[in-house]
Amino acid sequence: MRKKIVAGNWKMNLLSAEAQELFSTISKEVTSSEKCDVMVFSPSLFISKLTEIKSNVKLGFQNFYPEEKGAFTGEISITQVKDSGADNVLIGHSERRAYFHEDHGFLKNKVDATLKHSVNVIFCCGEPLEEREAGNELKYVKQQLIDSLFHLNASEIVKCVIAYEPVWAIGTGKTATIEQAESMHKSIRSWIEEKYNSEIANSISILYGGSCNAANAKELFACPNVDGGLIGGAALDANSFLQIIASF
Ligand code: PEP
Repeated sequence: MRKKIVAGNWKMNLLSAEAQELFSTISKEVTSSEKCDVMVFSPSLFISKLTEIKSNVKLGFQNFYPEEKGAFTGEISITQVKDSGADNVLIGHSERRAYFHEDHGFLKNKVDATLKHSVNVIFCCGEPLEEREAGNELKYVKQQLIDSLFHLNASEIVKCVIAYEPVWAIGTGKTATIEQAESMHKSIRSWIEEKYNSEIANSISILYGGSCNAANAKELFACPNVDGGLIGGAALDANSFLQIIASF
């Protein structure tokens, strides 16, 4: 059975007291026998406070720098991530690719750093609107995986989680249709099978992200190749996030 996951990406939102309140509220409801793993990617500033809250919700960083230490002003190293106890990270989010110019080579270095330091990764991929409109979405997403993830060997790739997040659906309120989501997830699984084998392809969790909310999560998570969601806006509201978790 593949691991089911619901992960919240708080992005650059909330102040410290709000973050602690939201995390506490969620933590009171998420039990150890939930049908899915639950994670929150908080602004890094709040992580140490949040790790003090007793919780079944895992914590993670939205960003880090793929070096162990050194003169990289303003950055958080992969070893600092590991040391924090919140050893989950997002890599390849479209906002990091677009606004911070993180390219394929840099993302590959980030992936390698997580494996070297036993940090868990959710690797995000997804096409912009113009690629979908041109009918290039499969080619585009496959290339993102080839460029930054498929250099891993079999024992490494099985440790990764993939999130398919069509850029045109992120924060826009426009969700991929069930058919669009399932078709891309199925294709991603087939490329993993092509590169590795079917056992590996069937063991890797692939999450959907892009305006997933309490109203559409159940239908999306019912798709055979959708193993959960990466949730932005709807993760900032405890009730919505809890309802998404309860969709499994
Ligand atoms: C995201 O940023 O990963 C995301 C899916 O955002 P939203 O749910 O707001 O579209």
